[in-house]
Amino acid sequence: MSAQSTEQTEKPTHTQDETTTSTWERRAIIDLANIRENVKRVAELVAPAEVMAVVKADGYGHGAVAVGRAAVQAGATWLGCAHVTEALKLREAGLDSQLMAWLHTEGTPFEAAIAANLDLAVSGWELEHVARAAQAAAQPARVHLKIDTGLGRNGCTPDQWEQLLGRAASFQDEGLMRVVGVFSHLAVADEPERPETDEQLEAFNQAVALAEDAGFDLEVRHIANTPAILTRPDAHYDMVRLGLGLYGLSPFAGEEPARYGLRPAMTLVSRIANVKKVPAGQGVGYGLRYHTDRETYLGLVPMGYADGIPRSASNAPVSINGKTYLVRGTIAMDQFVVDLGPDIDVAEILGSEVILFGEGGPSATDWADAAGTINYEIVTRISPRVPRRLVEGTWGESGE
Ligand SMILES: *Cc1c(COP(=O)(O)O)cnc(C)c1O
Repeated sequence: MSAQSTEQTEKPTHTQDETTTSTWERRAIIDLANIRENVKRVAELVAPAEVMAVVKADGYGHGAVAVGRAAVQAGATWLGCAHVTEALKLREAGLDSQLMAWLHTEGTPFEAAIAANLDLAVSGWELEHVARAAQAAAQPARVHLKIDTGLGRNGCTPDQWEQLLGRAASFQDEGLMRVVGVFSHLAVADEPERPETDEQLEAFNQAVALAEDAGFDLEVRHIANTPAILTRPDAHYDMVRLGLGLYGLSPFAGEEPARYGLRPAMTLVSRIANVKKVPAGQGVGYGLRYHTDRETYLGLVPMGYADGIPRSASNAPVSINGKTYLVRGTIAMDQFVVDLGPDIDVAEILGSEVILFGEGGPSATDWADAAGTINYEIVTRISPRVPRRLVEGTWGESGE
């Protein structure tokens, strides 16, 4: 490592180029102090229920290992991933908390999962595979049976539930598994006025009661995602699965995360790569979908859809030196343009920081609104081309 790479102590989780202070062009700053704060808020809110920090999809784009470690330090007692392969990477990185994976195919390495002490979700067909893997691993599997209470994705339908319980009971009797959990997933908890959440909780209660009648001694019953964590105390049960809120974002349209004491953990920053004066009527970007309405300055930002920002986010806001400007024209693979207006100091603005979203700038939700999507997708799709820089506390004060 060269003497210049002073930031190596902060362990960028992705590519490590472009991370020296003088030359960086794009970065996602991940504030682990905010991750910890968010876990503590939620842990207080749901106690005595436990908190599972959901770090699938590389921690919603924030870096699964760093976020998982911070979450556990702050009181999360479980980690959750979609795939066994994601969970195994956390184990390899030394995370040894309770850890669950819930989305499998016949290619899933169940035996490695059991050997790594992962908890496995089972919706149906997986049961026999998990039993065989437990036999091969010479270790009983820890299983959470999933009931589909209405989402219509994974999970056992209610009419198959008692049969699944029966099959699981035989495997448990054979010593091949222990059913430690029953869980489900909510469909509309981000729209608290809708009645379906009540119906799902009712169906969940019935499924849990049947599992208990079947003799299972459940450690954890769990159904709540972030929106249910924040609005449905009756959905907390023994554990909640905290995804979006862990990253400090609000799942509710029109409601700021601060209302729930949550702080966004990702700040996406670039800097102005070019500034130039153009006449009125200048077309901007592929397709020339924007034309200047006066003589003005255009600023070039070196981030595009290859960095994971949506091409559809024309008119998204960015912040430059404390002022908000709008993306103009079509976002390209590597770059987009903002209209800076006629009254700028060119020398000052060339090289200035551009905050796309996060601390000191617009929000990921503003970008989601501009792109016609949700904030989950905005942060999760920030691509590996963007170096992640881990900080503790406000990034502007962290020795940039
Ligand atoms: C992603 C996921 C979560 C987390 O949902 P959030 O709304 O981000 O909190 C919880 N449970 C399951 C099964 C998931 O797939």
